[in-house]
Amino acid sequence: MNILLLGSGGREHALAWKLAQSSLLAGSDDSFYAAPGNPGIADHARCVALDATDHQAVSDFCAEHAIGLVVIGPEAPLVDGLADSLRNSSIAVFGPAKAAAQLEGSKGFTKDLCERAGIPTAGYVRTASLADATAALDKFEAPYVLKADGLAAGKGVVIAETRAEAAEALTDMYSGRFGEAGAEVVIEEFMRGEEASFFALTDGETIIPFGSAQDHKRVGEGDTGPNTGGMGAYSPAPVLTPELEAQVMERIIKPTVDTLRSEGMPYSGVLFAGLMLTDSGPKLIEYNCRFGDPECQVLMTRLDSDLGEMMLACAHGELDKAGDARFEEATALTVVMAANGYPGTPEKGGSIDLGNAEGEGAKVFHAGTKRSEDGSLTASGGRVLNVTQTGENVTEAKAKAYRAVDAIAFPDGFCRRDIGWREVEREGR
Ligand code: ATP
Repeated sequence: MNILLLGSGGREHALAWKLAQSSLLAGSDDSFYAAPGNPGIADHARCVALDATDHQAVSDFCAEHAIGLVVIGPEAPLVDGLADSLRNSSIAVFGPAKAAAQLEGSKGFTKDLCERAGIPTAGYVRTASLADATAALDKFEAPYVLKADGLAAGKGVVIAETRAEAAEALTDMYSGRFGEAGAEVVIEEFMRGEEASFFALTDGETIIPFGSAQDHKRVGEGDTGPNTGGMGAYSPAPVLTPELEAQVMERIIKPTVDTLRSEGMPYSGVLFAGLMLTDSGPKLIEYNCRFGDPECQVLMTRLDSDLGEMMLACAHGELDKAGDARFEEATALTVVMAANGYPGTPEKGGSIDLGNAEGEGAKVFHAGTKRSEDGSLTASGGRVLNVTQTGENVTEAKAKAYRAVDAIAFPDGFCRRDIGWREVEREGR
């Protein structure tokens, strides 16, 4: 079969690496394309220039190249309805339709759905003006959680320690800074606990648990400093015990999938739940309608099942025939190497020498890299490399991952040295 993967980050490199191992691509006639891809993805797929916002162009490409499965990596094309456009042209797609992708595209939509379905999450108020929002602060106590409704690349959430700070943040959020994404602001009750990520595959009916992970969002060691897209992650997340996972499936994932289906918005693809493990059980923080980046890198490293087969089963509404997803017992951990300046203005063009980093079984996923004609590699984005290793537990995977990091020469880059610290502390007790 011919497959087209859309995206260009570390997440898509991990998907490309795993898809390349699929039986779907085992035939000599099978072709694997990626758009736009990156130098790491180019090891597995033919990278082509395609604008994902031009739905007709993507459809035409699929028709011309007899694509049997399109895998959409990032959220923006999903929220923009690319999956609907392709399905309208009878092309099989892994990824939810626009209506279901609102789970990520509108925080207010998700909160209302949680309320209708009785899903445990933080109390909330949706507001549509600065006056509304400022008045709504009365219903909450500090710290105040304020969220722009739409997609804001992880920058649309403010946790304000005081009422004055909250009022100031609301003024800023309603200033038009987030464009349409900030037309509404959701104010939420603050939840205490440890965060974890849980993944499930669904075709709208059947649901298959697809692993857990924990990530580090802050740029600085000890989880300090500004938020980033993620500086590292590990899977599984031992805090999410089998009992808690069963609760998440029963109380959060299943009612979400069932409610969306019964309301005529069936969800097909991967459902990524950001969870807060509170004293009164797991509660939903947010949904994403795609794999996490860098969580995907650690999930794919552990996945034993055929990713292509599972994605195709999802796309065809036949997930009931796919069987459970199998993951290696081992822990996988990934360290993000970023360009100096990230998450502000990253320095582009820094030279990278991967040396012998992949020598001991490590995998280096490319995120923001560029290959020159002479074959040399340079940094082209904020997050540049995802250095991934496995071990018996987080402590071992971490030590091995940093050995691989240390084999890489990237003088204009940096990484956190403490990925997995919480779990390492627990394992040391
Ligand atoms: P992401 O970058 O994960 O996509 P996002 O902008 O979609 O982020 P959320 O995940 O909803 O936003 O929130 C970002 C972070 O803010 C969470 O990971 C969590 O640390 C914190 N947070 C969000 N909601 C709450 C809450 N109700 N109580 C406590 N902390 C919260």
